[in-house]
Amino acid sequence: MNYDQIFQTALDALHADGSYRYFAELERRSGRFPKAFHHGLDREVTVWCSNDYLGMGQNKVVLDAMHKALDETGAGAGGTRNISGTNHYHVALEKELAALHGKEAALLFNSGYLSNWVTLGTIAGRLKGCVVLSDELNHASMIEGIRHSRADKQIFRHNDVEDLERRLKALPADVPKIIAFESVYSMDGDIAPIKAFCDLADRYGAMTYLDEVHAVGMYGEQGGGIAEKLGLSDRLTVIEGTLGKGFGVVGGYIAASAPLCDFVRSFGSGFIFSTALPPMIAAGALASVRYLREHSEERAGQQRAVAHLREALNAKNIPHVGNPSHIVPVMVGEAQLCRELSDALLKRFGHYIQPINYPTVPRGTERLRITPGPLHDDGMIDELVEALDVLWQEYQLRRAKAA
Ligand SMILES: *Cc1c(COP(=O)(O)O)cnc(C)c1O
Repeated sequence: MNYDQIFQTALDALHADGSYRYFAELERRSGRFPKAFHHGLDREVTVWCSNDYLGMGQNKVVLDAMHKALDETGAGAGGTRNISGTNHYHVALEKELAALHGKEAALLFNSGYLSNWVTLGTIAGRLKGCVVLSDELNHASMIEGIRHSRADKQIFRHNDVEDLERRLKALPADVPKIIAFESVYSMDGDIAPIKAFCDLADRYGAMTYLDEVHAVGMYGEQGGGIAEKLGLSDRLTVIEGTLGKGFGVVGGYIAASAPLCDFVRSFGSGFIFSTALPPMIAAGALASVRYLREHSEERAGQQRAVAHLREALNAKNIPHVGNPSHIVPVMVGEAQLCRELSDALLKRFGHYIQPINYPTVPRGTERLRITPGPLHDDGMIDELVEALDVLWQEYQLRRAKAA
């Protein structure tokens, strides 16, 4: 068997349909974000597609906490949580996350992906007869967790209250049910009808599992996400989040009741049998969460940048998808073109926006996904829109109708 030949054939297919992923080799330079050094181009570029949404990755409070913890505790955790790896910082961070979401408890994971995979896999897998109702646009980590659980799964139409209710109504009252969905959807930036889903959960005796990865740190008075903003945190069974996006570090978590967190802690293989996050990481994340609970400047700055970008795009009639979030998708609709525009933006204008192609989004909806934050000033935004305008002209792309 020529195994490499098999691998290469599969890769060739990706190249053929334009979905092969090229990584930009960047060097983030603390203090310069959203600028970063691009190896290969050998120059500094402006990054418009980072999930370090609030620039917390270079926040001094976070960095100081990490330097201090690194010097005090050393490099790694030294074990799984169960066998010598639980550090004071992990416990303090879990308490802080529980408080952030107004829950009894929280449980840390090495990534947001793992928190979804392990929690859904464990709960749905161990509740006898459990049915998971999953939004059709849910993130891969939830899909894989549900698949791993081997529970029955029903996929409901995106954000569709009626379709979800029809499915809930058809299920026997006495089977355990989980409604799994996200608050802010990362590619379209739209937001789920959280209250309506919670009402259905109450009516049909279901649990609710909300992925707030693209909202924590950014929405709500303390950065507790859309659920906090809408005063709905106590109605959700599980709130899941990441420490790697708005909070700027790395790691994931769930916040829920004490028995639920203890259940996942006690039965979740992907939690139990993996080395804990370095204490330094927990210390940095703790500082970040605390900082964003007390400060709203970053949130305000992000909102300002989003509003300015949308106005500047409107002024040039460059079409972008309207939504209530900080995610600004500029639709292109064709994989090859999307890559070409991204390349031209980078090489000619020094703006880095990774093209978003299939399978991350459906074919025909390829896009440039822009995530402006508090560190993108008006001048940078105007430059980006100027560059887009030049490309829209050169490529004769469709314009939005003048307002
Ligand atoms: C990024 C992402 C995750 C995974 O979080 P990580 O901390 O990056 O592993 C989970 N859910 C959604 C919706 C995401 O976009």
